[in-house]
Amino acid sequence: MTHLFFDLDNTLWDFDTNSRTVLQNLFNANNFEKRLGVGFAEFHEYYYKKNDELWHLYYFNKIKKEELRYKRFYDTFLNFGLNDLRLSRSIAEDYVKISPYSKHLMPGCIELLDELSVKYHLHIITNGFAEVQNIKIDNCGLRNYFKHIIISEEHGMTKPHVDIFRLGERLANTTSDKCIMIGDNWVSDIEGAIGAGWKAVYFGQTPKAEHPDISSVNSLPELRKIL
Ligand SMILES: [Mg+2]
Repeated sequence: MTHLFFDLDNTLWDFDTNSRTVLQNLFNANNFEKRLGVGFAEFHEYYYKKNDELWHLYYFNKIKKEELRYKRFYDTFLNFGLNDLRLSRSIAEDYVKISPYSKHLMPGCIELLDELSVKYHLHIITNGFAEVQNIKIDNCGLRNYFKHIIISEEHGMTKPHVDIFRLGERLANTTSDKCIMIGDNWVSDIEGAIGAGWKAVYFGQTPKAEHPDISSVNSLPELRKIL
């Protein structure tokens, strides 16, 4: 039997929609339009870019978790002329507390898991913080579909490193030729899986390279066609 390993954010759990909604609510509640002199769209665009940069540094052990969490807000506020460390820390705390309770899943998620769980062993490998990822998984009723849920922080290793894929094989008690990774991040999910000798399904518009072991889909329901 084949083992399907899913990424969580933006593969099962609609991170972009959930995060954007929480940020918009915090933006409105704190009257940032007036305080920063900027509309939400522009604020969000800058935050998104900054968040990406800081995650990158976190992956390479250049910054710690706490720094990542407040600095994405501190730098964004600073960009719009507000230098306020205390506010940044407090908004960062609110964001981390509220956002994992958001419930938007990628379209067709539950229906697909209902079907696939009959034919395959399902697992998750996610890069993220344990307390955050566990809330998302429980709050959206995802936990029972998966045999093993591997959260990078709990094991001190992140995708795309081959070790986390080997850990998946060991826990699932299987071999690399029976594993398929499904995810939206080309480097962590797809290159990582291929590097471990797995097959991979890229969840995204255009695959970044041709490879006999890489397929791609634009939506979760499309997975039915290739599995
Ligand atoms: Mg993802």
